[in-house]
Amino acid sequence: MSSILSVEHVSKAYGNVLALDDVSFTLNEGEVVSILGPSGCGKSTLLQAIAGLLKPTDGQIIIDNQKVSDRHMMQSPDKRPVNMVFQDYALWPHMNVYENIAYGLKRRKNYTKKRKEKVEDLLDKLQLKGLARRMVSHLSGGQQQRVGIARALATEPKILLMDEPLSNLDIKLRLQMRNELAILLKELHTTVVHVTHDPMEAFALADKLLVIRAGKLEQYGLKENVFHMPKTEWVAQLLGYTNRLMMEKQQLEFEGDNRGSIQWKGQLIQGNCNDNQKENTGHWKVIVHPNDVKLVNPNEVSVDQKEENIIRERIKHVVFQGLSWQVILNTGDNEDFSFIVDQPLQVGDEVSICFPVNRTFLFKEEIIG
Ligand code: ADP
Repeated sequence: MSSILSVEHVSKAYGNVLALDDVSFTLNEGEVVSILGPSGCGKSTLLQAIAGLLKPTDGQIIIDNQKVSDRHMMQSPDKRPVNMVFQDYALWPHMNVYENIAYGLKRRKNYTKKRKEKVEDLLDKLQLKGLARRMVSHLSGGQQQRVGIARALATEPKILLMDEPLSNLDIKLRLQMRNELAILLKELHTTVVHVTHDPMEAFALADKLLVIRAGKLEQYGLKENVFHMPKTEWVAQLLGYTNRLMMEKQQLEFEGDNRGSIQWKGQLIQGNCNDNQKENTGHWKVIVHPNDVKLVNPNEVSVDQKEENIIRERIKHVVFQGLSWQVILNTGDNEDFSFIVDQPLQVGDEVSICFPVNRTFLFKEEIIG
């Protein structure tokens, strides 16, 4: 696979605000990356820098082996082999579906026959055939979005840029379109840079996640790798690792190979830790995903204690969720620990639970912003 996009040490300052801070990554042809992070972290700024809608303060961007911007130059958006699908689709309301899709091709003075073939092909691929002559203002949100994508694809961009493409849809349609869009992107084999604040949308659409925090790249990699091995507590929290146990100040017992152990209320907990933090004494946190936590049945202890952490705690609260129950343990202040069971449990009872050592993360305490 060859790299189609290379973002190298890109920064963007707005006065005192550093919206992007030395961001670097490369993307291969045909890959879909989701730029993921909370509102204001710099996602749109990065997308706009790739699109050519703003000039980075520093660093350079290379698309399809051509430098499109550095400190001294910036290629305009229409010269770049990219096209954008906007949040509000930005369709021409006075044009029908066909005319909207053909718009970019007309501007590029393509031959009429070739243009017709291209538009027909996109109408087909995006299941818009029966709607070609309909005015876009008479389409549903989902249909409008498909027109927006078809229009962006018509000029055969090397990279399709999508800025929160599902955020204008209501929740039901959003979930439906998320899957449709995921299937479509796979079929098209297009390289896509997609922006979202929603981890579930990123998981559904992307091959890779690029997690941004306050303008800095926090983690980048295949979505499975980022989810299974979050580098920081912040990334873990963003991706749904909501269980958190706080330690007394202590030295981590380093066991080699990014593994360590600590004591929580006299109970040993082992997990992954960063090699570079191993010497540190401090306040450690245990971070676990609720889906990795299982109830241990005292009558049949079949848990391999080398592979699983086991702790005992009382139940504080049980939340009925329809087909399952969320059980919240009575851990201390600033701690949170819950898991899902398919039978209701009794508040006040003490239970044993286990969670895999290789799915347990030990992070030094940091202030989460
Ligand atoms: P996101 O897309 O993740 O919500 P943005 O890229 O829009 O974040 O913004 C990143 C930061 O840059 C924010 O602090 C935002 O307030 C600031 N910012 C964005 N655009 C401008 C602008 N034109 N002028 C000043 N500050 C801006």
